[in-house]
Amino acid sequence: MTTQPKYIVLLGPPASGKGTQAARLKEILDLPHIASGDLFRENLKNETELGKKAKVYMDRGDLVPDDVTIAMVMERLSRPDCANGALLDGFPRTIAQAEALDQALAGQGNKISLALYIAVPDEVLVERVSGRRLCRLCGESYHVRFNPPKQPGVCDNDGGELYQRDDDKPETVRKRLQVYWEQTSPLIETYRDQGVLVEVDGDQAIDDVTADLRAVVAGD
Ligand code: AMP
Repeated sequence: MTTQPKYIVLLGPPASGKGTQAARLKEILDLPHIASGDLFRENLKNETELGKKAKVYMDRGDLVPDDVTIAMVMERLSRPDCANGALLDGFPRTIAQAEALDQALAGQGNKISLALYIAVPDEVLVERVSGRRLCRLCGESYHVRFNPPKQPGVCDNDGGELYQRDDDKPETVRKRLQVYWEQTSPLIETYRDQGVLVEVDGDQAIDDVTADLRAVVAGD
């Protein structure tokens, strides 16, 4: 029996835990984790044309223009590993991106099955971002206090060096939060209206957020 591909969107402000939770949910759901921010960082690392274009916006804490972002994510979703769907993290982030995604899925007779909104107050986010560290090799995310690696500065997965994202510095974080509230948070209502939104309290220990998300996807 063939089943319909399943597309799940993770919504939430920067550092709400989307990436951390997606890494756990993808095991539970057996879906690939597609993070637009990771795709951009990959392009930055490889110094592609797309990476050079995106860097200007990322450094300012702005969103990369919709046309570039939509094309990049759609190309990624067209690859064979997404044949059964995907867990989308950081995309869509604007109404135009959500519409482009809806349209592409409608073309396959499909739609978003779930939008998981991880809610976290702004003051908690600023503290989380300042302690966030990423692996240079695999992109795994840590927090110096809330989710430390076994050995400081070293990735548990592959021994890669941990670094702080340029756009995690305080000036840029404030801008990213502003952009989130202005351009991305309206999607909460969009998905609520579509009847697919489920809100989870992201201001809890990582395992407790995972447990709440697990309960939601189990019931889906
Ligand atoms: P993230 O890792 O999700 O926090 O994304 C890092 C940065 O990449 C953002 O601040 C944006 O500049 C850019 N970016 C990631 N996803 C998107 C998106 N869906 N639309 C526009 N820009 C994005």
